Formats: sequence, structure tokens, C-alpha cells
Amino acid sequence: MGEIGKIKFLEINMECKFCLKDKKLIDAHIIPRCFFEAMRDKKDNRPFQLLSNTKNEYSQKLWIGLYDKNILCEDCEKVFQKYDDYACKALLSNIDESDYILDPNGNKIGYKLENVDYKKLKLFFLSVLWRASVSKRKEFKKVDIGRSFEDRLKAMVKNFDPGSTNDFLLVLRRFIDDLGKNFLMDPYKLRIDEINFYRFYLGAGYEFHIKVDKRNLKKSDVLYLLALRSESLLYVPFRENLLSSKEFPILKDILNKSKKR
Ligand SMILES: [Zn+2]
Repeated sequence: MGEIGKIKFLEINMECKFCLKDKKLIDAHIIPRCFFEAMRDKKDNRPFQLLSNTKNEYSQKLWIGLYDKNILCEDCEKVFQKYDDYACKALLSNIDESDYILDPNGNKIGYKLENVDYKKLKLFFLSVLWRASVSKRKEFKKVDIGRSFEDRLKAMVKNFDPGSTNDFLLVLRRFIDDLGKNFLMDPYKLRIDEINFYRFYLGAGYEFHIKVDKRNLKKSDVLYLLALRSESLLYVPFRENLLSSKEFPILKDILNKSKKR
């Protein structure tokens, strides 16, 4: 009976997917909160909706971004936090007029960011891909890059090694219409000219394609020309309005289904 006084709260430890130690895991963001904050309606502080393109899943309200409590310990989360903070700063700051790219008629068709920290920004995208792939959350269930790519990403993040432009080549684009700036869909795999990519929506209008394929793109390839460069240059072409985009019919379908429910 003397044991009764010794009863302690059990701390449940689990294996951190990054350091592989048994530790207490924390709520780790997969998509950083800042992109969600940028989408929140400033006037009435409403949360925006995450629209799912997974069959039988419907839209859900989210307040603080997408997190997973089963992947990272607190110490490892700090590694990711550094990259998240940099991406928030680099991608959500105001754009100078002189950085816009104009078409021959003077219309803005995108912008360029010079002097971005290639290492930090590329490692941010690599870490989002890794987190999404190891996560068991239903929003990321279509992201499964396989053990060997996961291990490679983990090593790159650990060693602060962003690789070359062609390693997990990254192309970022942005919706700038109000509707496009305020929607999200689940990431999924697609092929572009036979090469495997994943398409992610970050929030705040950003969409990115990341190459998960050992084959390299030619330097003359349009996607290579638009990719985040090791020369610290990033082009962000604008996407068409969401209403005229390929995603819109899918979006409409999801909205109709969730209305009927
Ligand atoms: Zn850890």
C-alpha cells in the first residue's frame, strides 16, 4: 500500500520522426501559421476554410494552421521554426514596385525576389515536404514520397544542405485575386512531362510545385528557368484568377457537396 503515494502522472513519450529519440512530442506545424494568419479576415476575424479535394472529405475551419502532434519533439521543432520564420519574412513582406515583372502591355504578371537566402528558403520547402510526407494527417495522405526521398530530405535539413536548383526543384506561383488568396487545397502528386512533382498550397495565394524525381530538368526548361535558384533569385509568376483556373471546377464541386451535406 506504501506505493500509493508514489503514483506519478505518466509522461507518454513517442519517437520523434526527426531525431528518432523517444521524447515528448509537441504540436508541430506542417504549414506555418503566418500563411494562415495572412488569410484571416481582418475585419471580423473569421477563420478561413480549408477545402479538401480528397473524396468524401469536406471543408473544415482552421484557426491556427495545420499541425501534427505525432512527428516532432520540441528541440527538433526549433530547427524547423528557423526555416518557417524566414519563409514568412521573405514571402509575406511587401513587394517593391520595381520588382514587378510586366508584360508588353504593362500588366503585372509576377514579381522577382532578389537576394533571397537560397539556403534558408529552399530548406523551408524541403522541410514542408518532409513534414507532410511523414505526417499521418488526412490532409497530407496523398503525400508519400517514400523512405529514400524522406531520408534524403532529412539529411539535407539536418546538414543545412539545400542541394542544387535541380534537387527537389521548386517553382512557386501565386494567386493574387481575393478568392485565390483565401483558399487552400490538399497537396497531391502530379506528373509534368513525365517527371514527378507534388503540388502544395501554402495559403496567402501561394502554390508550389516540388520535384520528387531523380531525373533532372534541362537548364532550358521553362520550369528550370522559373525555379528557385541557387543564385538566390526567385520568380513568382502570378496565376490566373481562381475563377478561371483549373482548380475552380474542383472547388465548385466541393462547395456544392458541402452545401448539400
Ligand atoms: Zn526530435
